[in-house]
Amino acid sequence: MKVYLDNSATTFLDKNVLDKMMPYLTDVCGNANSLHSFGRDADSAVTKARIQVAEAINASKNEIFFTSGGTESDNWALNGVFEAHKDKGDHIIISKIEHAAILATAKKLEKEGARVTYLNVDKHGVVNLDELKKSVCDKTVLVSVMLANNEIGTIQPIKEVVKIVKSINKNTLVHTDAVQAVGSLPVDVKDLDVDLLSLSAHKIYGPKGVGALYLRTGVRLGKLITGGHQERSMRGGTTNVAGVVGLGVAIEEAVKNLSVNSLKIAKLRDYFAAKIKDGIKDVVFNGHPEKKLSSNLNVSFDGIEGESILQLLDINGIAVSTGSACSSGSLEPSHVLLATGLEIARAHGSIRFSFGKANTVEEADYAFLKLKETVDRLRDMSPIYKK
Ligand SMILES: *Cc1c(COP(=O)(O)O)cnc(C)c1O
Repeated sequence: MKVYLDNSATTFLDKNVLDKMMPYLTDVCGNANSLHSFGRDADSAVTKARIQVAEAINASKNEIFFTSGGTESDNWALNGVFEAHKDKGDHIIISKIEHAAILATAKKLEKEGARVTYLNVDKHGVVNLDELKKSVCDKTVLVSVMLANNEIGTIQPIKEVVKIVKSINKNTLVHTDAVQAVGSLPVDVKDLDVDLLSLSAHKIYGPKGVGALYLRTGVRLGKLITGGHQERSMRGGTTNVAGVVGLGVAIEEAVKNLSVNSLKIAKLRDYFAAKIKDGIKDVVFNGHPEKKLSSNLNVSFDGIEGESILQLLDINGIAVSTGSACSSGSLEPSHVLLATGLEIARAHGSIRFSFGKANTVEEADYAFLKLKETVDRLRDMSPIYKK
């Protein structure tokens, strides 16, 4: 049996999405900028996708810029704001638990003269709003706090973040990385009142390598790629027509089915969590107990290594992840778990199970059975686990 419990890393491509993309990978071969009928057909598909993305987050279509994904959107938001608002200031605020796409870009900007404040989070991973209040100043050009965390699922109070920021400096822009939030909770840019927002297709059953940046009308941003008039001359390069069509369909479906899917996914996640609680001793559940993505379950198993659990589960066909370690290829414990104050040993012993709309009870039962065997076996061999 193969069980995929790594839906926060990526999801499968929905058959319906692929079907809608297919013509643009084959027959409708036009460049969306060409003036003939082939070009016009491609261009109207791109326009439709832009409207679908805009409607999904309550934006207007001129506020949507297609990118190659969440990482690019995050990079663009930080670099583009810093570049275009140098006259106003050099200060940026982010949280300590941002995705690497934000963290590494902030580090890069520090080398280019930016001053960056890294906000702490509480034990559930919620950003410290008092620190935010104290940090915003007249030189703050951007605050970037993610809407929901990819490792522990914690949902941030972005509306409050915006209120605090704007009450201190109305010129400070607020960006949110909504890559994990889209499709899991309602994302409305007007309600959140953010200036920029990142999203990605492959976390919501769309294709890999395509995403979007929302940029509120009137907000200045540096160009990302020069060389073509695509994306209103902000990001040149021939448009990935099939990709953006896939993003449009995927986000429309995600929003339409949001409550049904997230209820179903949360139910399965809670069922699996209850099995762990009842059947495995010495575990810690990470993240916020309630303000949390429906898909996310992050658990620390005392006395053993997350990497070993991952490998043994993999042998049994079960896919999970260990914080950021797998993606970075390093054995550093997750910066997110450490920021919540979790001890280093526990951070090393943590596993993220992320559920998706296609997972079943049978899969959860099988995964738990193998998880229990794995944890028992590793603890039997562990020199540090005290029975
Ligand atoms: C996956 C992810 C990204 C990166 O998106 P890509 O489309 O894979 O580049 C950024 N932020 C968060 C929170 C993510 O989960």
